[in-house]
Amino acid sequence: MQSLTNRSKVVVKKEMTFTEKMYLPAILNGMRITFSHMFKKSATIKYPEHVRPRSSVYRGQHVLKRDEAGAERCTACGLCAVACPAEAITMVAAERKKGEENLYREEKYAAVYEINMLRCIFCGLCEEACPKEAIFLTDRIVDTEYERNDFVYGKDKLVEPVEKDKRIDVSVRQNEKTLEFKTHSEYGHNQVWDPNKSLKKKSGH
Ligand code: SF4
Ligand code: SF4
Repeated sequence: MQSLTNRSKVVVKKEMTFTEKMYLPAILNGMRITFSHMFKKSATIKYPEHVRPRSSVYRGQHVLKRDEAGAERCTACGLCAVACPAEAITMVAAERKKGEENLYREEKYAAVYEINMLRCIFCGLCEEACPKEAIFLTDRIVDTEYERNDFVYGKDKLVEPVEKDKRIDVSVRQNEKTLEFKTHSEYGHNQVWDPNKSLKKKSGH
C-alpha cells in the first residue's frame, strides 16, 4: 500500500555486536548520566514545604462569593454549568423562603452546588459566564485526596466564610471596568441587602 507521507522508515532487524550483547557499556553509560545529574541543580521542589511563586490571577480552586452583608451571591441560574466545557458543575436550585434574605441574595439560590475537581480543567469560563460575581477561581491549589468522591467539592468547601476577615479577596481578578462598575451603588447588582429596606433594582442590572 502506498503511504500518505514520506515519513515512514523501513525497520531492519540488525544483529547485535558482541559488546552490545554484554550490555555493560550501555549500563555504564546510563550510570554516568545518572551520576552527572546528582550534581546538577534539582528541577523539582519539596512541595508543600516549598511553593513556587504563582501569578496573582492563577486559576486554582473556586470560591463561591458572598455579598457585603454575607448573603450567598449565587442565584443558581446555571450559566456557569452551561459554559463549563468539562461538564464539571452541577447544582440544584431552590426558592428562597421568607426570612432567608440574609442567607441568599436572590429569590432563587443553589441548595446544592458541586464542582468535580477531577473533571475541571481550570479554564475560568465559569467565572466569565457568571452574571452575579458569584464564582471566581483563586490562587489556591486543590488538595490531594485518596478517594475520587472527595474531589467533588460541595458548598461546604466552595462558599467562602461569613466572617469578613476570612473572606477571599478576588478584586485582583477583576478588570478596571468591573471595579469602576462596582462603585455605582445605584445599581441593584452592587447594593447590599438591608433587612429594613428591600433591594432597589434598576432594570437591566
Ligand atoms: S474552570 Fe472551566 S472546567 Fe473548571 S468548572 Fe469552571 S468552566 Fe468548568
Ligand atoms: S455561580 Fe454564577 S453563573 Fe453559576 S449558577 Fe451561580 S449565579 Fe449562575
